[in-house]
Amino acid sequence: MQISTTRTSTPTTEDALARILAEPGFGTHFTDHMLTVEWTPSTGWTGARVTPYAPLTLDPATAVLHYAQEIFEGMKAYRRDDGSVWSFRPEENAARMVRSSQRLALPELPVEDFVACVDELVRVDERWVPDAAGEKSLYLRPFMFASEAFLGVRPAQHVTFMVIASPAGSYFKGGVDPVSLWLTEEYTRAGRGGMGAAKTGGNYASSLVAQQEATAHGCDQVVFLDAQEGRYVEELGGMNLYFVHDDGHVVTPETGTILEGITRASIIELLGTLGHTVEERRFSIEEWREGVSSGRITEVFACGTAAVVTPVGALHQAGGSTPAPASVELTNRVRQALVDVQYGRADDAFGWMHRIV
Ligand SMILES: *Cc1c(COP(=O)(O)O)cnc(C)c1O
Repeated sequence: MQISTTRTSTPTTEDALARILAEPGFGTHFTDHMLTVEWTPSTGWTGARVTPYAPLTLDPATAVLHYAQEIFEGMKAYRRDDGSVWSFRPEENAARMVRSSQRLALPELPVEDFVACVDELVRVDERWVPDAAGEKSLYLRPFMFASEAFLGVRPAQHVTFMVIASPAGSYFKGGVDPVSLWLTEEYTRAGRGGMGAAKTGGNYASSLVAQQEATAHGCDQVVFLDAQEGRYVEELGGMNLYFVHDDGHVVTPETGTILEGITRASIIELLGTLGHTVEERRFSIEEWREGVSSGRITEVFACGTAAVVTPVGALHQAGGSTPAPASVELTNRVRQALVDVQYGRADDAFGWMHRIV
């Protein structure tokens, strides 16, 4: 894939950039450039270009605005102490975007083109990658949407893939304190045959009202159960879950309708090297409540690219509450092991890291 580059004539000044990188927050500041590639059935993917970051002009009939034919990815670029910049398993994000595109009837962007696009934007906006201190990174958001102006219901014949980037600090304002969870018994995020395994904006749109319910009950995040029986734990809607048991074995839910995170998959491998057995299986809400109450479950944690690994505290629901598990020891070890690989402070035994700069 040939990618052309037009640099902005008004780059962010060194002073302004230094102020942003000192306290980047999450998803509020964007870099000086963006990457765009377009697709039609006759041309395939064409016109790959890095251009100055700017608003899009969309026809009001643009299909994505009406039928939500859209997918995205979330990944990060990390700066090491030697100045080099790396991403974490980018081909896994690319492969997941291919799977999401199959579910949403969008065209497939080849894995090597996805990685080339992300790398190119990071190279052009390299000065936006923060120093490693404080676990900062450059959050990368590749996304693809139906850009054809047409109100008929069918897969779009004009599709746009873009990458934007945003410097990121710690995802949760409270640092790595345990998050409190609200169990929603009214809403589900995915059903059999639905889009739960695809990374698509629609899944997030349907989760917002449940998150509001959680917030109204004073909780940080919402937990979803399976749609069929309302019994098996799925995920938080943006993070996958792990349950650590007192005999050392660890369970992570597998239902066919969760979004299988790359962090989740990496932790399965990491836990293996730390000597833990990992079970991927259905895990009921009673098992969670009874396990924590009896002490059989010693830790619960959530994971995803944005927050890495976060301890889970108390679980609240209409009928009562389950207290926070006793420990955060393995949670912290897993978090540290992952972060150390990402910032190049530990041996990359699995070959997960990809050098960009
Ligand atoms: C992105 C996402 C995750 C976490 O996936 P990672 O690849 O680990 O970042 C979990 N659940 C949902 C619904 C997601 O969209």
